[in-house]
Amino acid sequence: AAAPATNFLRNIVEADLAADRYADKHWAGQPGPASVQQAGPLDPARIRTRFPPEPNGYLHIGHAKSISLNFGLARDYGGVCHLRLDDTNPEKEEQRYVDAIVDAVRWLGYDWTAFGTEHYYHASDYFDFMYQAAEALIASGDAYVDEQNPEEMRAMRGTLTEPGTDSPWRSRPAEESLARLRDMRDGKHPDGSMALRARIDMASPNMNLRDPVLYRIRHAEHHRTGGKWCIYPMYTYAHPIEDALEGITHSICTLEFEDQRPFYDWLLGRLRDLGLLADPLPHQHEFARLNLTYIITSKRKLLQLVNDGHVSGWDDPRLPTILGLRRRGYTPEAIQLLCERTGASKSDSWIDYALLEQALRDDLDPKAPRSVAVLRPLKLVITNYPEDQTEECSAPRHPHHPEMGRRLFPFGRELWIEQEDFAETPPKGFFRLFPGNMVRLKYGYVIKCTGCTKDATGNVVEVQAEYLPDTKSGTPGADSVKVKGNITWLHAPTAAAAEVRLYDRLFTEANPSSGGKDFLEYLNPNSIEVVQAYLEPGTDGTPGTSYQFERFGYFVADREDSSTLKPVFNRTTTLRDSWGK
Ligand code: ATP
Ligand code: MG
Ligand code: MG
Repeated sequence: AAAPATNFLRNIVEADLAADRYADKHWAGQPGPASVQQAGPLDPARIRTRFPPEPNGYLHIGHAKSISLNFGLARDYGGVCHLRLDDTNPEKEEQRYVDAIVDAVRWLGYDWTAFGTEHYYHASDYFDFMYQAAEALIASGDAYVDEQNPEEMRAMRGTLTEPGTDSPWRSRPAEESLARLRDMRDGKHPDGSMALRARIDMASPNMNLRDPVLYRIRHAEHHRTGGKWCIYPMYTYAHPIEDALEGITHSICTLEFEDQRPFYDWLLGRLRDLGLLADPLPHQHEFARLNLTYIITSKRKLLQLVNDGHVSGWDDPRLPTILGLRRRGYTPEAIQLLCERTGASKSDSWIDYALLEQALRDDLDPKAPRSVAVLRPLKLVITNYPEDQTEECSAPRHPHHPEMGRRLFPFGRELWIEQEDFAETPPKGFFRLFPGNMVRLKYGYVIKCTGCTKDATGNVVEVQAEYLPDTKSGTPGADSVKVKGNITWLHAPTAAAAEVRLYDRLFTEANPSSGGKDFLEYLNPNSIEVVQAYLEPGTDGTPGTSYQFERFGYFVADREDSSTLKPVFNRTTTLRDSWGK
């Protein structure tokens, strides 16, 4: 594969490597996990990145972007990317999310085992260090316990134009704060009654430096540490420490954290000066999040779609979750392709959903076998073909890969064709079947339509035609009769019945979150249509098998509901972008 295009993050990494910024493998000197320390001065890792999801929901296409960037940088620059579960918020986190995250990252094709060591971590492993660091910050005068409740603190924070006001507890003696912090830790105070805050600057123009909260009281069970703690570090305090302990060199996050960078640097600088961490420290770099049109990635809104039954679950093929994309038929390679093509940028933008579909086509076109499906069947009777006779037709499994071989399927008197391929009264420019017209049955004979049969309500229920015996595809006479139309078909007695789910975009608006109305108002009422179709004999319904059904697009056998005996296929994407046309 071609090397990914360069971007500002790659430029930064290259400059840092050129300056030999991490030559001394400083992670060996941090008091972090043994697997990082043991790496030692001979550790071949040149940089360290991390993907740090919070296990409070399922991963989606936006996370795939972050995964691709972080693991991609490590891969391309001889480094290591850690998978770190950022589990500092016990009420919202669950083991089932941890398991799903691990599965999703693996499925996307990334591995956190590098140079023989597994780099899989949990923020909760560092709770002891974080707590010791908190005591050290109190001792050095950099933190204090504030006994105001959250509302009182908020009221004194000031605004963007007004400085904040010092808390009455701000200048209490360090010993007093230390005693209070230990009481907090020992469970002597209720949730919200007090908090540990950094002592920085209540007049800072950066609101994040106005004495941010470092620890809060939460009497909650943690999915890993159980009841050990009743105080938990804030994300903004925990995250820089996690990065430093793991020897992360490039801490890559989305733009909304740009305002947090001064605190990130302040905290790590203080802990280094206090002798708890060593230089060089990790550096935070921000990039623009991936915004795809016609989807939503907000965890809260995804949850609402699932809980209110607008979709069938977290793996509904219409959702942009990794589970949903996978079930829809998106491949890890297609998702990687999208992430690489969209690069990394410093300013927010919207990426057209069509780019994701194109990435899938580009991935599957060279490898997906072809097959025929008749999605809306109409019976066609070849009246001059004997009733008890069949013969073989054949087609390449792939038009550009003869080595994939050929597929064989029967031709006979009774066939299925698409309803849309017949018109009793043809509109202008219609080249398919109508009484008196000739078309080619793809890979078969030229036929001439002789009429149709209708039911009591006037619906066409059967079409009749005669075949021209000398015109079979692949025989010398194939081109003796020129026709404009070429239609797909299946031999009715041998075609396999299958359910096919025709998925479309879940929303009718490119940006359902800012269209002015509630996002649910923009749900596409036609985002799924289920048809009883027929498939070419031999089409494999084993869950996860992908095909290009000729003329219709890419389809995958559903992971949950399909089987070889009872195939169920999902449309992943059409052959061309036809949205809104
Ligand atoms: P929340 O913080 O609301 O729980 P989140 O989507 O930020 O949700 P995290 O688990 O914190 O979830 O995300 C893990 C990583 O994925 C973070 O580093 C985050 O920046 C990144 N990420 C999340 N959404 C996107 C996106 N749309 N594009 C790129 N990176 C993303
Ligand atoms: Mg989060
Ligand atoms: Mg987040």
